[in-house]
Amino acid sequence: MTDATAPLFLGAGIYRRSSYGAFHPLRVPRVSTVMDLSRALGWLPADRFRTSPCAKPAALQIWHDPDYIAALQLAEATQQVDDATRARFGLGTAANPVFAEMYRRPATGAGGSLLAAELLAGGGVVFHPAGGTHHGLKGRASGFCYLNDPVLAIMALRRKGVGRIAYVDIDAHHGDGVEIAFADDPQTLVMSVHEERRWPFTGALADAGRGNVFNLPVPRGFNDTEMQAVLEGLILPRLAQFRPEALVLQCGADAVEEDPLSRLSLSNNAHWGVVAALRGVAPRYLVLGGGGYNPWSVGRLWTGVWAVLAGHDIPERLPGAGENVLRGLDWPGHSRGRNPPAHWFTTLRDVPRPGPVRDEVRARLAALAERGAP
Ligand SMILES: [Zn+2]
Repeated sequence: MTDATAPLFLGAGIYRRSSYGAFHPLRVPRVSTVMDLSRALGWLPADRFRTSPCAKPAALQIWHDPDYIAALQLAEATQQVDDATRARFGLGTAANPVFAEMYRRPATGAGGSLLAAELLAGGGVVFHPAGGTHHGLKGRASGFCYLNDPVLAIMALRRKGVGRIAYVDIDAHHGDGVEIAFADDPQTLVMSVHEERRWPFTGALADAGRGNVFNLPVPRGFNDTEMQAVLEGLILPRLAQFRPEALVLQCGADAVEEDPLSRLSLSNNAHWGVVAALRGVAPRYLVLGGGGYNPWSVGRLWTGVWAVLAGHDIPERLPGAGENVLRGLDWPGHSRGRNPPAHWFTTLRDVPRPGPVRDEVRARLAALAERGAP
Protein backbone atom coordinates (compact mmCIF):
# COMPACT_ATOMS: atom_id res chain seq x y z
CA MET A 1 0.00 0.00 0.00
CA THR A 2 1.29 3.46 -0.82
CA ASP A 3 0.98 6.54 1.34
CA ALA A 4 -0.77 9.30 -0.60
CA THR A 5 0.76 11.99 1.60
CA ALA A 6 4.38 10.84 1.18
CA PRO A 7 6.71 13.18 -0.74
CA LEU A 8 7.05 12.83 -4.52
CA PHE A 9 10.22 13.23 -6.59
CA LEU A 10 9.97 14.73 -10.09
CA GLY A 11 12.66 13.90 -12.66
CA ALA A 12 13.15 13.05 -16.34
CA GLY A 13 15.67 11.39 -18.63
CA ILE A 14 16.42 14.53 -20.64
CA TYR A 15 18.74 15.95 -17.95
CA ARG A 16 21.05 12.96 -18.31
CA ARG A 17 21.80 13.26 -21.99
CA SER A 18 21.78 17.03 -22.60
CA SER A 19 24.49 19.61 -21.97
CA TYR A 20 24.77 23.36 -22.42
CA GLY A 21 28.08 22.74 -24.20
CA ALA A 22 31.66 21.78 -23.40
CA PHE A 23 32.65 25.10 -21.79
CA HIS A 24 29.44 26.00 -19.97
CA PRO A 25 29.13 25.55 -16.16
CA LEU A 26 26.04 23.41 -16.89
CA ARG A 27 28.08 20.83 -18.78
CA VAL A 28 28.02 18.71 -15.60
CA PRO A 29 25.30 16.18 -14.72
CA ARG A 30 23.13 17.16 -11.75
CA VAL A 31 19.58 15.76 -11.61
CA SER A 32 20.63 12.38 -13.03
CA THR A 33 23.16 12.06 -10.17
CA VAL A 34 20.42 12.71 -7.61
CA MET A 35 18.15 10.11 -9.25
CA ASP A 36 20.95 7.52 -9.52
CA LEU A 37 22.22 8.09 -5.99
CA SER A 38 18.74 8.05 -4.45
CA ARG A 39 17.97 4.79 -6.27
CA ALA A 40 21.31 3.27 -5.28
CA LEU A 41 20.45 4.00 -1.66
CA GLY A 42 16.97 2.47 -2.00
CA TRP A 43 15.36 5.87 -1.37
CA LEU A 44 13.42 6.24 -4.63
CA PRO A 45 10.85 3.45 -5.10
CA ALA A 46 8.77 3.72 -8.30
CA ASP A 47 5.66 4.90 -6.47
CA ARG A 48 7.45 8.03 -5.21
CA PHE A 49 8.75 9.07 -8.65
CA ARG A 50 6.90 11.03 -11.31
CA THR A 51 8.25 11.90 -14.77
CA SER A 52 8.13 15.62 -15.64
CA PRO A 53 6.24 16.22 -18.87
CA CYS A 54 7.59 18.69 -21.44
CA ALA A 55 5.38 21.78 -21.16
CA LYS A 56 3.57 22.96 -24.28
CA PRO A 57 3.97 26.62 -25.36
CA ALA A 58 0.39 27.48 -24.32
CA ALA A 59 1.12 26.35 -20.75
CA LEU A 60 4.25 28.53 -20.58
CA GLN A 61 2.29 31.55 -21.74
CA ILE A 62 0.57 31.88 -18.38
CA TRP A 63 3.61 34.10 -17.78
CA HIS A 64 6.07 34.03 -20.70
CA ASP A 65 5.57 36.11 -23.85
CA PRO A 66 4.38 34.13 -26.89
CA ASP A 67 6.99 35.82 -29.13
CA TYR A 68 9.79 34.70 -26.83
CA ILE A 69 8.53 31.10 -26.65
CA ALA A 70 8.27 31.03 -30.46
CA ALA A 71 11.87 32.32 -30.76
CA LEU A 72 13.09 29.68 -28.29
CA GLN A 73 11.39 26.87 -30.22
CA LEU A 74 12.73 28.19 -33.54
CA ALA A 75 16.27 28.38 -32.12
CA GLU A 76 16.04 24.74 -31.05
CA ALA A 77 14.67 23.67 -34.44
CA THR A 78 17.25 25.55 -36.52
CA GLN A 79 20.15 25.42 -34.01
CA GLN A 80 21.02 29.03 -34.71
CA VAL A 81 19.89 32.57 -33.88
CA ASP A 82 20.32 35.79 -35.78
CA ASP A 83 21.67 38.98 -34.23
CA ALA A 84 18.23 40.50 -33.75
CA THR A 85 17.01 37.43 -31.85
CA ARG A 86 20.13 37.41 -29.70
CA ALA A 87 19.71 41.07 -28.82
CA ARG A 88 15.97 40.91 -28.16
CA PHE A 89 15.59 37.55 -26.41
CA GLY A 90 19.03 36.81 -24.89
CA LEU A 91 19.31 33.55 -26.85
CA GLY A 92 22.58 32.32 -28.34
CA THR A 93 24.75 34.05 -25.73
CA ALA A 94 27.57 32.62 -23.61
CA ALA A 95 25.19 32.22 -20.65
CA ASN A 96 22.21 30.98 -22.66
CA PRO A 97 23.70 29.20 -25.66
CA VAL A 98 22.06 27.40 -28.54
CA PHE A 99 22.12 23.67 -27.74
CA ALA A 100 20.25 20.60 -28.96
CA GLU A 101 17.50 20.53 -26.29
CA MET A 102 17.35 24.28 -25.57
CA TYR A 103 13.53 24.32 -25.63
CA ARG A 104 12.73 20.77 -24.51
CA ARG A 105 15.04 20.72 -21.50
CA PRO A 106 13.82 23.93 -19.83
CA ALA A 107 10.25 23.13 -20.91
CA THR A 108 10.58 19.80 -19.09
CA GLY A 109 11.77 21.65 -15.98
CA ALA A 110 8.80 24.01 -16.35
CA GLY A 111 6.50 21.04 -16.99
CA GLY A 112 7.68 19.57 -13.69
CA SER A 113 6.81 22.76 -11.82
CA LEU A 114 3.39 22.88 -13.47
CA LEU A 115 2.83 19.21 -12.59
CA ALA A 116 3.95 19.96 -9.02
CA ALA A 117 1.22 22.59 -8.75
CA GLU A 118 -1.35 19.96 -9.79
CA LEU A 119 0.02 17.37 -7.38
CA LEU A 120 0.07 19.88 -4.53
CA ALA A 121 -3.41 21.33 -5.09
CA GLY A 122 -4.81 19.29 -2.21
CA GLY A 123 -1.61 19.41 -0.13
CA GLY A 124 1.64 17.49 0.09
CA VAL A 125 5.39 17.66 -0.51
CA VAL A 126 7.14 17.60 -3.90
CA PHE A 127 10.88 17.67 -4.68
CA HIS A 128 11.76 18.87 -8.19
CA PRO A 129 15.53 19.27 -8.37
CA ALA A 130 15.51 20.31 -12.04
CA GLY A 131 13.38 23.32 -11.11
CA GLY A 132 14.54 26.58 -9.59
CA THR A 133 15.46 28.51 -12.77
CA HIS A 134 14.91 31.81 -10.99
CA HIS A 135 16.60 34.20 -13.44
CA GLY A 136 14.28 33.53 -16.40
CA LEU A 137 12.39 36.63 -17.53
CA LYS A 138 8.98 37.01 -19.12
CA GLY A 139 10.37 37.61 -22.59
CA ARG A 140 14.09 36.88 -22.29
CA ALA A 141 16.60 34.21 -21.30
CA SER A 142 18.99 35.18 -18.50
CA GLY A 143 21.62 33.62 -16.26
CA PHE A 144 21.50 30.05 -17.68
CA CYS A 145 17.67 30.15 -17.34
CA TYR A 146 15.46 30.01 -20.45
CA LEU A 147 12.16 29.82 -18.56
CA ASN A 148 11.18 30.68 -15.00
CA ASP A 149 9.68 27.54 -13.52
CA PRO A 150 9.28 28.93 -9.96
CA VAL A 151 7.10 31.73 -11.35
CA LEU A 152 5.08 29.19 -13.35
CA ALA A 153 4.63 26.99 -10.26
CA ILE A 154 3.38 29.93 -8.18
CA MET A 155 1.02 31.10 -10.92
CA ALA A 156 -0.33 27.57 -11.44
CA LEU A 157 -0.91 27.15 -7.69
CA ARG A 158 -2.77 30.45 -7.68
CA ARG A 159 -4.98 29.20 -10.52
CA LYS A 160 -5.78 26.18 -8.36
CA GLY A 161 -7.23 28.57 -5.80
CA VAL A 162 -4.24 28.77 -3.46
CA GLY A 163 -4.12 32.24 -1.91
CA ARG A 164 -1.05 33.23 0.09
CA ILE A 165 2.12 31.72 -1.41
CA ALA A 166 5.62 32.15 0.01
CA TYR A 167 8.81 31.83 -2.05
CA VAL A 168 12.15 31.38 -0.25
CA ASP A 169 15.40 31.39 -2.25
CA ILE A 170 18.74 30.29 -0.74
CA ASP A 171 20.70 30.11 -4.01
CA ALA A 172 23.96 32.11 -4.02
CA HIS A 173 22.42 34.48 -6.59
CA HIS A 174 19.47 36.83 -6.18
CA GLY A 175 16.18 35.37 -7.46
CA ASP A 176 15.58 38.38 -9.70
CA GLY A 177 13.05 36.87 -12.12
CA VAL A 178 10.76 35.73 -9.33
CA GLU A 179 10.98 39.08 -7.57
CA ILE A 180 10.09 40.91 -10.80
CA ALA A 181 7.06 38.66 -11.29
CA PHE A 182 5.62 39.13 -7.80
CA ALA A 183 6.98 42.39 -6.36
CA ASP A 184 3.56 44.01 -6.84
CA ASP A 185 1.55 41.07 -5.50
CA PRO A 186 0.93 41.24 -1.73
CA GLN A 187 -0.41 37.65 -1.84
CA THR A 188 3.10 36.39 -2.64
CA LEU A 189 5.90 36.69 -0.08
CA VAL A 190 9.33 36.69 -1.76
CA MET A 191 12.50 36.16 0.30
CA SER A 192 16.01 35.80 -1.14
CA VAL A 193 19.33 35.26 0.64
CA HIS A 194 22.24 35.78 -1.76
CA GLU A 195 25.87 36.83 -2.02
CA GLU A 196 26.36 40.61 -2.11
CA ARG A 197 28.05 42.25 -5.11
CA ARG A 198 27.50 39.22 -7.31
CA TRP A 199 25.60 38.87 -10.59
CA PRO A 200 22.75 39.85 -11.26
CA PHE A 201 23.60 42.73 -8.83
CA THR A 202 19.95 43.15 -7.82
CA GLY A 203 18.27 42.20 -4.52
CA ALA A 204 19.40 45.12 -2.37
CA LEU A 205 18.47 45.12 1.31
CA ALA A 206 16.17 48.11 0.82
CA ASP A 207 14.22 46.67 -2.14
CA ALA A 208 10.86 45.80 -0.66
CA GLY A 209 8.31 45.57 -3.50
CA ARG A 210 4.97 46.41 -1.95
CA GLY A 211 6.27 45.28 1.43
CA ASN A 212 6.18 41.61 0.39
CA VAL A 213 9.81 41.38 -0.79
CA PHE A 214 12.68 40.64 1.62
CA ASN A 215 16.24 40.63 0.30
CA LEU A 216 19.26 39.70 2.40
CA PRO A 217 22.60 40.18 0.66
CA VAL A 218 25.30 38.30 2.62
CA PRO A 219 29.09 38.69 2.62
CA ARG A 220 31.69 36.29 1.27
CA GLY A 221 32.39 33.38 3.58
CA PHE A 222 28.76 33.12 4.78
CA ASN A 223 28.81 30.15 7.19
CA ASP A 224 26.42 27.55 8.66
CA THR A 225 25.93 29.49 11.91
CA GLU A 226 25.01 32.60 9.94
CA MET A 227 22.46 30.65 7.88
CA GLN A 228 20.90 29.39 11.12
CA ALA A 229 20.70 33.01 12.32
CA VAL A 230 18.98 33.97 9.05
CA LEU A 231 16.55 31.09 9.40
CA GLU A 232 15.64 32.10 12.95
CA GLY A 233 15.86 35.86 12.51
CA LEU A 234 14.23 36.34 9.11
CA ILE A 235 12.80 33.32 7.30
CA LEU A 236 10.82 31.54 10.03
CA PRO A 237 9.35 34.68 11.69
CA ARG A 238 8.19 36.13 8.35
CA LEU A 239 6.64 32.82 7.32
CA ALA A 240 4.86 32.56 10.68
CA GLN A 241 3.48 36.05 10.21
CA PHE A 242 2.41 35.45 6.58
CA ARG A 243 0.83 32.01 7.17
CA PRO A 244 1.32 30.76 3.59
CA GLU A 245 -1.02 28.22 2.05
CA ALA A 246 1.87 27.05 -0.13
CA LEU A 247 5.63 27.36 0.24
CA VAL A 248 8.16 27.15 -2.61
CA LEU A 249 11.82 26.75 -1.59
CA GLN A 250 14.50 27.35 -4.21
CA CYS A 251 17.40 25.29 -2.90
CA GLY A 252 20.29 26.26 -5.19
CA ALA A 253 23.43 24.28 -4.40
CA ASP A 254 25.88 27.03 -5.38
CA ALA A 255 26.08 28.59 -1.91
CA VAL A 256 28.37 25.83 -0.63
CA GLU A 257 32.12 26.24 -0.17
CA GLU A 258 33.11 23.99 -3.10
CA ASP A 259 31.00 25.71 -5.74
CA PRO A 260 33.04 27.42 -8.48
CA LEU A 261 30.63 30.32 -9.14
CA SER A 262 30.27 31.92 -5.69
CA ARG A 263 32.33 32.73 -2.61
CA LEU A 264 29.98 31.58 0.13
CA SER A 265 31.15 28.93 2.59
CA LEU A 266 28.15 26.88 3.65
CA SER A 267 28.22 23.13 4.15
CA ASN A 268 25.30 21.12 2.84
CA ASN A 269 24.08 20.81 6.44
CA ALA A 270 22.90 24.43 6.17
CA HIS A 271 20.62 23.67 3.21
CA TRP A 272 19.28 20.53 4.87
CA GLY A 273 18.55 22.52 8.01
CA VAL A 274 16.47 25.01 6.03
CA VAL A 275 14.63 22.24 4.15
CA ALA A 276 13.77 20.53 7.45
CA ALA A 277 12.80 23.72 9.29
CA LEU A 278 10.41 24.78 6.51
CA ARG A 279 8.64 21.44 6.37
CA GLY A 280 5.22 21.79 7.98
CA VAL A 281 5.15 25.59 7.67
CA ALA A 282 2.53 25.32 4.90
CA PRO A 283 0.21 22.48 3.80
CA ARG A 284 1.82 22.52 0.33
CA TYR A 285 5.62 22.36 0.09
CA LEU A 286 7.52 22.46 -3.20
CA VAL A 287 11.31 22.17 -3.01
CA LEU A 288 13.18 23.14 -6.19
CA GLY A 289 16.84 22.94 -7.19
CA GLY A 290 18.60 25.92 -8.75
CA GLY A 291 22.29 26.70 -9.20
CA GLY A 292 25.08 24.27 -8.37
CA TYR A 293 28.08 23.76 -10.62
CA ASN A 294 30.33 21.30 -8.80
CA PRO A 295 28.98 17.90 -9.89
CA TRP A 296 29.82 16.22 -6.57
CA SER A 297 28.55 18.89 -4.21
CA VAL A 298 25.29 19.38 -6.13
CA GLY A 299 24.60 15.63 -6.33
CA ARG A 300 25.36 15.07 -2.65
CA LEU A 301 23.42 18.14 -1.48
CA TRP A 302 20.20 17.46 -3.41
CA THR A 303 20.25 13.72 -2.59
CA GLY A 304 20.41 14.80 1.06
CA VAL A 305 17.46 17.14 0.49
CA TRP A 306 15.45 14.16 -0.71
CA ALA A 307 16.58 12.17 2.36
CA VAL A 308 15.33 14.96 4.63
CA LEU A 309 11.98 15.20 2.84
CA ALA A 310 11.44 11.44 2.56
CA GLY A 311 12.60 10.71 6.11
CA HIS A 312 15.76 8.70 5.41
CA ASP A 313 18.76 8.69 7.75
CA ILE A 314 21.94 9.87 6.03
CA PRO A 315 24.64 7.23 6.56
CA GLU A 316 28.10 8.25 7.78
CA ARG A 317 29.63 6.41 4.86
CA LEU A 318 27.84 5.61 1.61
CA PRO A 319 27.32 1.96 0.70
CA GLY A 320 29.28 0.78 -2.34
CA ALA A 321 26.46 1.30 -4.83
CA GLY A 322 26.18 4.97 -3.81
CA GLU A 323 29.94 5.50 -3.87
CA ASN A 324 30.03 4.07 -7.40
CA VAL A 325 27.59 6.74 -8.61
CA LEU A 326 29.87 9.49 -7.28
CA ARG A 327 33.03 7.80 -8.60
CA GLY A 328 31.40 7.74 -12.02
CA LEU A 329 31.25 11.55 -12.22
CA ASP A 330 33.86 13.78 -13.73
CA TRP A 331 34.34 17.52 -14.04
CA PRO A 332 36.11 18.15 -17.33
CA GLY A 333 37.99 21.40 -17.60
CA HIS A 334 38.05 22.24 -13.89
CA SER A 335 41.11 21.87 -11.66
CA ARG A 336 39.03 20.54 -8.76
CA GLY A 337 37.89 17.69 -10.98
CA ARG A 338 41.41 16.33 -11.36
CA ASN A 339 41.93 14.93 -7.89
CA PRO A 340 38.72 15.15 -5.86
CA PRO A 341 38.96 14.57 -2.09
CA ALA A 342 37.81 11.13 -0.92
CA HIS A 343 34.78 12.41 0.98
CA TRP A 344 33.20 13.61 -2.31
CA PHE A 345 32.91 9.90 -3.17
CA THR A 346 32.24 8.28 0.20
CA THR A 347 29.82 10.60 2.04
CA LEU A 348 26.74 12.74 1.54
CA ARG A 349 27.20 14.97 4.56
CA ASP A 350 29.87 17.67 4.60
CA VAL A 351 31.78 18.50 7.76
CA PRO A 352 29.77 21.43 9.23
CA ARG A 353 31.20 24.91 8.68
CA PRO A 354 30.20 26.94 11.73
CA GLY A 355 31.60 30.40 12.42
CA PRO A 356 30.87 33.77 13.93
CA VAL A 357 27.68 35.64 13.01
CA ARG A 358 29.32 38.78 11.66
CA ASP A 359 28.17 42.28 12.54
CA GLU A 360 26.97 43.09 9.01
CA VAL A 361 24.75 40.00 8.98
CA ARG A 362 23.27 40.95 12.37
CA ALA A 363 22.72 44.55 11.29
CA ARG A 364 20.93 43.56 8.08
CA LEU A 365 18.70 41.08 9.92
CA ALA A 366 17.84 43.82 12.40
CA ALA A 367 16.98 46.22 9.57
CA LEU A 368 14.62 43.66 7.99
CA ALA A 369 13.07 42.80 11.36
CA GLU A 370 12.04 46.45 11.78
CA ARG A 371 9.86 46.35 8.70
CA GLY A 372 6.14 45.84 9.16
CA ALA A 373 4.14 42.84 8.04
CA PRO A 374 3.72 42.43 4.28
ZN1 LIG B 1 22.84 30.62 -8.39
